[in-house]
Amino acid sequence: MVEQALKLITEIQHSLIQEYAFLDQWNVKLDNAKKRAGICRLSEREISISLQHILNNDIQTVEDTILHEFAHAIAYQVYKETGHGHYWKLVARKIGATPKASGKFELPSAPWLLVHVCNESANIYPIAERFRRNKKIRNYHLSGRPETKGELFFVAQTDFNQYKHGLLDKSRLVLVQ
Ligand SMILES: [Zn+2]
Repeated sequence: MVEQALKLITEIQHSLIQEYAFLDQWNVKLDNAKKRAGICRLSEREISISLQHILNNDIQTVEDTILHEFAHAIAYQVYKETGHGHYWKLVARKIGATPKASGKFELPSAPWLLVHVCNESANIYPIAERFRRNKKIRNYHLSGRPETKGELFFVAQTDFNQYKHGLLDKSRLVLVQ
């Protein structure tokens, strides 16, 4: 999914450069934002797309976000317009982005993931999403499996998503009890 998104970013940028040559001066990167899909930093000539957005949505939605941000870059450079005004909408329509301030997309729902860290296999198994951490987790075990007492942890869902996609090393996962 991440590779697919990166490929899409490159393709979109290359095709837009045909008409808007100045876009080769723009950088597109990924970030770990949890509350918005993408951002266009006009003065830095930088577009940043949330990795969490990429991991939680289908490629069409991600494509719309990428186009949305490029429309900001173009509206700014060609018409000196910021925000979602007349020219941004014009550009958005022209390049195929939904001409709306914010699209419909998913971001990670609950911040925590309850996981079982198996002592024997050293594997990490996600069990459930959680909005809050339970302080007594240390004393709990999987239903019907008392031997798993002490093997349940909380991990930030965003970190686990990155780990799952090979973008964060296992040793850097913060497991909380
Ligand atoms: Zn916008």
